[in-house]
Order: sequence, then structure tokens, then C-alpha cells
Amino acid sequence: MSTLSPASADAFGLLREDLYIHLEEADCLATQDGEWSDDDMQTARGLISDLVLALRGLLAEHRLQPTGNCQICTLVWPCPVVTTIHAIVKDPERQFVAILRARSDD
Ligand SMILES: [Zn+2]
Repeated sequence: MSTLSPASADAFGLLREDLYIHLEEADCLATQDGEWSDDDMQTARGLISDLVLALRGLLAEHRLQPTGNCQICTLVWPCPVVTTIHAIVKDPERQFVAILRARSDD
């Protein structure tokens, strides 16, 4: 098992921090006080699509192989990535379930 060099560890840390900053900005839009402007609503609509795209991409990458393992993690499927996505998407306290329930009631 190789160990990261200090320079690589720093670079990976900066990359992770940069990604978290982007996610934090998206989260701030949802939790900001006050009314949303038209621009806020347009941004939120785009963000929903972008976030769903990210989740779909992760699920597509972490798919089940005939061996019974994840294609990426090589762990027994469902791997931790799929398990985390499943827990969030299927949580009845979250909006993924609520929106599906509302649509089926129409
Ligand atoms: Zn995986």
C-alpha cells in the first residue's frame, strides 16, 4: 500500500475543500432566510438537475457486476456509496420520498 506524499495529500485536501465549498454554496441557497428572488429560483431549478445528475453518475459508476461486487469499489454490492445514496433517497423524512408520494397522489 502506497502512502501519499505530503504534496499530494495537500493537493487532494485542497480539491476536497474546493468541492465542499461548492456544495456549501448550494446548501446556503436552500437555507437562506427570506424570499427567493427569480434568480434564486432559476438557480435552484438548475441545482436540482445538477445534483440529480451527480447522484445518477455515482449510481451508474457504482453498479453491480456479475461477480456480486461494485464495479468501482470492488466491495460486495451494495457498496457504501450506493448504501449512502439509498439511505438518503429512500428516507421518508426527506424530499425524495415526499415528492414521489405527492406525484402518486395526483
Ligand atoms: Zn461502489
